Amino acid sequence: KTFEELGIIPDILKAITEIGYENPMPIQEKVIPYLLGKGNEVIALAETGTGKTAAFGLPILQQIQIHHEHPQAVVLCPTRELCLQIANDINNYSKYLKKLKILPIYGGSNIESQIKALRGGVHIVVATSGRLIDLIKRGAVDLQYVRNVVLDEADEMLSVGFSESIDEILRHIPEDRNMLLFSATMPLEISWITKKYMRNPHEIVI
Ligand code: AMP
Repeated sequence: KTFEELGIIPDILKAITEIGYENPMPIQEKVIPYLLGKGNEVIALAETGTGKTAAFGLPILQQIQIHHEHPQAVVLCPTRELCLQIANDINNYSKYLKKLKILPIYGGSNIESQIKALRGGVHIVVATSGRLIDLIKRGAVDLQYVRNVVLDEADEMLSVGFSESIDEILRHIPEDRNMLLFSATMPLEISWITKKYMRNPHEIVI
């Protein structure tokens, strides 16, 4: 199948074609139509390099209401490097979606400039959990319009005290949000997180 057949809109198709994506990778073929079809929650057992960023990034981009300048999606990831990479990839996919704003948020960078960027209106937040919690506590980020929460490389996040962080972050996000979980492995703690927070997830193995 082509990206067009999976339901990707022309403005995004144009951007990904320019990047050089010709055909969807297997994870994209499975995840994209499911999420665009309002199937909503996904658990995907997938390694880095399988194309997972576009698998969740494209359907999320397509569901953002641009005139509504509040965060509508949160992508949580384990490291600053991954955070920057995901934000950069999604930014490239959104090249022709005018005014759509993506903000990477991670520790070690200037918090004041992140607060300022948030005030300017942001649609998608890509964050490490510690810094996001810091911003929540300062009242600098409003998560009440978040529809989608992505846990990327979930197994990697366990080592950084992730289960407590996720509790704290989800307390500020409406309960009817959808959760998308990507992980290379499924240790017990991850199964526990999926049982605790997800309703009726669709499981995908690549
Ligand atoms: P990811 O697993 O999201 O880090 O993606 C791994 C690599 O594959 C990245 O360099 C992507 O830019 C690239 N990629 C993702 N989707 C496609 C696609 N449909 N066609 C070609 N390359 C892709």
